[in-house]
Amino acid sequence: MGKSHAYRNLKLCSKDCLCLFVCPTGATNNETGQIDFDKCIGCGACAAACPAKAITMIPNVMPKQQPKNPSVINQIFKVVDSKIDEIKILNHLLKENKEDGRLIKTLIHSNKVMIEDLLREAGYMLPQSQNTHEFLKLIKETGGSSAHIAQELLDKIKVNE
Ligand code: SF4
Ligand code: SF4
Repeated sequence: MGKSHAYRNLKLCSKDCLCLFVCPTGATNNETGQIDFDKCIGCGACAAACPAKAITMIPNVMPKQQPKNPSVINQIFKVVDSKIDEIKILNHLLKENKEDGRLIKTLIHSNKVMIEDLLREAGYMLPQSQNTHEFLKLIKETGGSSAHIAQELLDKIKVNE
């Protein structure tokens, strides 16, 4: 087992099957369209061969999450709150808008992207973070239809304690 495994972005994949030819283990030849993590040895041949840059090599263990200063996190959440307020106002404007509202929709999208970046910076939404693992454990404990996916992710993504 290598230090990483391959991940295929199906939106970018042009289905020319080069990765199937170069993979030594057959991991790329999967009915789901995804690469079989269990078979992948992390050699990187598929990522190097892919003309569409649809394959990314992901480390098996992510780098340790950097410690965050609580006062910085508080400030980040304040900015997130202001972005959420902006989205509320923009949604209201969108309802009133008689035109197609493309500019407003773009601003809403841009605010959502900024919120995502800010939350990531605050230490959330990182697959290897303790926060994410606590969240996955919560999903698992609900026992709903997503529980087995949560367990799979917990098994695949190692947390940095
Ligand atoms: S080589 Fe890249 S584009 Fe071609 S099938 Fe594989 S992932 Fe898709
Ligand atoms: S990294 Fe190597 S083993 Fe893994 S899917 Fe790509 S070619 Fe196959």
